This record gives sequence, structure tokens and C-alpha cells, in this order.
Amino acid sequence: MDGFPLKITEAVCLGTSLAISGICYYLYRKSRTTVDKLDDAPQLTVNRQLKHILKVTPGACLQYAVIEGTVQPVGEPLTSSYQKEIAGVLKKFMLREHRLVWNSLSHTWTDSERVVHQRVNVVPFMLVGPDDTSVRVLYPLQASGAHMEITHEKFHQVNYSLSDIVGQYLSGEKLKGQLETEEMLKVGATVTGVGELILDTDGTLCLRPPSNCSQYFLSIMDFDTLRANQASAAVWWKALAIGFALAGTAVLLWVGRRYYYHLKLRWEREQERMEFERLQAEAPRARSAITGLTDSTEDHIENACVICLSQPRNCILLDCGHVCCCYNCYQGLPRQQCPICRQSINRVVPLYHA
Ligand SMILES: [Zn+2]
Ligand SMILES: [Zn+2]
Repeated sequence: MDGFPLKITEAVCLGTSLAISGICYYLYRKSRTTVDKLDDAPQLTVNRQLKHILKVTPGACLQYAVIEGTVQPVGEPLTSSYQKEIAGVLKKFMLREHRLVWNSLSHTWTDSERVVHQRVNVVPFMLVGPDDTSVRVLYPLQASGAHMEITHEKFHQVNYSLSDIVGQYLSGEKLKGQLETEEMLKVGATVTGVGELILDTDGTLCLRPPSNCSQYFLSIMDFDTLRANQASAAVWWKALAIGFALAGTAVLLWVGRRYYYHLKLRWEREQERMEFERLQAEAPRARSAITGLTDSTEDHIENACVICLSQPRNCILLDCGHVCCCYNCYQGLPRQQCPICRQSINRVVPLYHA
């Protein structure tokens, strides 16, 4: 693309849309792989049979399996700090600060959130099947999926004095308040676990994060809902990847269209020049007619080109009709504009004197 400038906005739009499309495609592939792995994972019932299945499995380990059971603590359970009757095995306390920040671009107050404090407590627990067979859940904090329920939520609003309000408008920041939440995985909740299932040397069944980099799930939803959520996430990522790829293609087409017109213009000027040269070379008589000068008057200053002052004026600029320059100087004009009246030049024709 010699001499063809790619505008900075076009380059930025193209780069951004292709980069976002790439990220979305990567996330789509990841969600799709997770869905495929969930489809391939055997769904097992937590009962006495499970130990026998693992005993005959090589390495006493199933790399990716789905189980469902009721949450029971191994020792003493945790209790909610706000509702003493609620017992759980995982407890997460979070304090978030909500602020309104003045956005000088959009001239509005926008909400911003920041985690001020977070505390997680966990006690060993297991998933218990219908016949009291249990599976120990290892590293539950590494699991994704919705397995916590909100047990407490309270927003502490801030009361302002007049001086606070003045200060807020000067600083461009308003403190709205603090939101405290407590989430728990409750004892007795039915949980779907997807991960690596092993039979330990002491005969304990354990569920742990898969060693083959598959996703580890603990969820209070049933398996079908869990799978459907992953599948819909994959669809969304795919749609976004296609959308951004299309946006990138649109920018490319736009640039291509501009490049096409650029080439077309160059080709047209080249054709115009060849036509001019052909007319000049065709007959010496015609040439003198074009120049409008005889050999004896070649230095006649009145008819000289206004740009180079040495060549005769030999072309008519249209649509304004000015005869002011030679063809070489016309081709050298930085813009397609008449040097006399600044009107744009649509066509140029040789000058003939009858
Ligand atoms: Zn000239
Ligand atoms: Zn003109």
C-alpha cells in the first residue's frame, strides 16, 4: 500500500475489535470444553457401590465425575454471626464500600464499589449419600459455581452534615455507605460436586480439584442447571466473538473501499496523462495547436504557465474553465483545485487553438 495512509482511528478500531473478538473466542472455547467435559463425566450416586467402582478403577481415581450429596461437617460446624440457628461449613463475610464518583466526561455521578474487608472461614465437610456413604470435599475454596447462600445483608447509609456536602462537590466523591454481606454453604444443603474422585489409602472417598486442569464445581443447583448455565455462557461468548469479528471485518472493508478509490484515482490520472502524451506525439501540427504557440514565440511570457513560468499553458481545468498552467504543473498540484479560483477540478482537457 505505497503512499496509502491507514488512519489512526481505523487502526485502533481494527486492532481493538480483533483483540476483543480473540479474547471472546478464547473464552468461548474454554466454556465449550467445560461443557464437553461435563457431558463426558460419569454421574455417580454416593453409595456403597462407589467404593467398589473406584477399587476396580486404575489408580483408584476417576479424573472427572459428578456426584450429589447432602453437606455434613466432619467436626463442629460454623454458625452464622447474625442468625445463630444457621449452621454451615463455609462462611464468607464481605464489607463493600459504595461511592458515587463524578464523571467529568459524561457529567454524571457513577457508582463505584470497593471491597474493604473480606473474611472466609471453612471447616472440613463431606457430601453424604442416601445410604450414609460420605465423600470428603477437599479444597472447596478452589471450586467455582454457586454454592453459597446469602444469610445476612445490610446497607449502612451515611448521614451528611452541610460541610460534608460542600466537601463532596469540591472533591467529586460521595460516600453512599457500606454494604455488609454474609454468605454460607449451609449444613444439609444438597450440593452437586464435579471434580476428581479418589479412594484414599485409608478407604476415605474424596472429591478434589481435577489434576487435568478441568474446572472444579460445587453448586447448590442440580447438574442439568449447572450444565445449562455453562452452555449458555458458551453461546454468549460465541455471539460476542462473532459480533466483534464482524465489526473488524467492517473496518477492513471500509479501509479496502478507500484503498480501491485511491487506486482508481491514480489509474485515472495515469490514463489522462497517457492520453495527453498521445495527443501531443500524434502530429507536430497538432502539438503546435495544443501549445498555441509557434516556434518563434516559444518564449512569449504572456502565455506561460502561472506555476513554472517556463512551459506554455496547454490545458483547460474544468468545471471552472481556467487556462492557467501546463500539464506537468497540473499533475503536480497537491490538491485537485484550480490554482486561480480554488474550485475543485473534475476533468482536464488539452487546449486547442483553431
Ligand atoms: Zn507549468
Ligand atoms: Zn479556476
